[in-house]
Amino acid sequence: MKQIIQQLTSSEHILLASHSNPDGDAIGALLALGLSLEKLDRHVTLHNESSIPEVYRFLPSVQRIQKQITTPAQFDTAVILDCGSLSRVGSAAEAIGAIPVIINIDHHTTNKRFGQHHLVDVDACATSEIVYRLIKAMGLEIDPAIATAIYTGILTDTGSFRFSNTNQAAFAICEAMVVAGVKPSAVAQYVYGTYSLGRIKLLNLALDSIEVSNNGYLSIMTVTREMLAETGTQPEDADGLINYARRIRDVKVAALIHELENGAVDDGGRKSFHVSLRSDGSVDVSRIATTFGGGGHAGAAGFSVESRLSDLKQTIYNLSDGFGEPCRVN
Ligand code: AMP
Ligand code: MN
Ligand code: MN
Repeated sequence: MKQIIQQLTSSEHILLASHSNPDGDAIGALLALGLSLEKLDRHVTLHNESSIPEVYRFLPSVQRIQKQITTPAQFDTAVILDCGSLSRVGSAAEAIGAIPVIINIDHHTTNKRFGQHHLVDVDACATSEIVYRLIKAMGLEIDPAIATAIYTGILTDTGSFRFSNTNQAAFAICEAMVVAGVKPSAVAQYVYGTYSLGRIKLLNLALDSIEVSNNGYLSIMTVTREMLAETGTQPEDADGLINYARRIRDVKVAALIHELENGAVDDGGRKSFHVSLRSDGSVDVSRIATTFGGGGHAGAAGFSVESRLSDLKQTIYNLSDGFGEPCRVN
């Protein structure tokens, strides 16, 4: 932490970046640290290669986040947030990799410890928790804009204080953020309470797609490009839908197969997919994701593959043989 603060305070131009297809933590940590470093009169550029999902566009200064990095050579330091590996930032990974000093701030169990400085805490509920600690250690004031970013990061990464990463710090920091000016009901309304009609229709199609393995331990939900087209929705509208597949009694692992927009990769019907995995706590899905070249946390992980949909489903179904006996409480 000390070395990182020294590096940040002695840098002129700092690039901050988080993972593509960002969630609330990737955006919240990016904004909170970026706005804080500006208080130190640093020159700060915020980068995320994807469009910011509609539900996070209420965050103060969110329009500061740029999709492109025009002059990577100007930066003396890069801070990479909520990324297990540098490649998670997307197409700018190579350009960012050439920035002289890279600081890796993250909470994924699969973090590859890239960069010269690491602030990796796998027990942190969110990268926003670690960013909060860093801001406090720098002695900076947390204004309502920064507080809203941190609060949103923790709220969304803990699934509203329901997932297994929900720790004491999640409550303590969020309380402090409310004292600093956050309006919990307003944030909840933006993040969870303003779905488009198309998103509700997509939910309907996604629920209908759910299949469960013979032993009942694994559920698969599928969101295709066709479903998005039919409902007039964007990939971001599938965020969170996997939790419905996870809630089914006896299900230990839920998989959401998400067809990516680049479509067919060859004539054999192979396409690009992102697979999100969620566990009830009895199976470490980050290990499964790692075997497919992805990563994440014990309870929430993901990977991308090129496959035929039917082959991919079969591969995922085969995993469920190893999930053991169900543990029913009623
Ligand atoms: P998702 O699959 O987007 O629902 O993400 C679940 C968790 O796994 C998040 O913490 C992601 O950052 C992480 N994750 C998703 N895909 C990958 C990947 N390809 N490599 C490493 N981590 C990933
Ligand atoms: Mn994330
Ligand atoms: Mn996170």
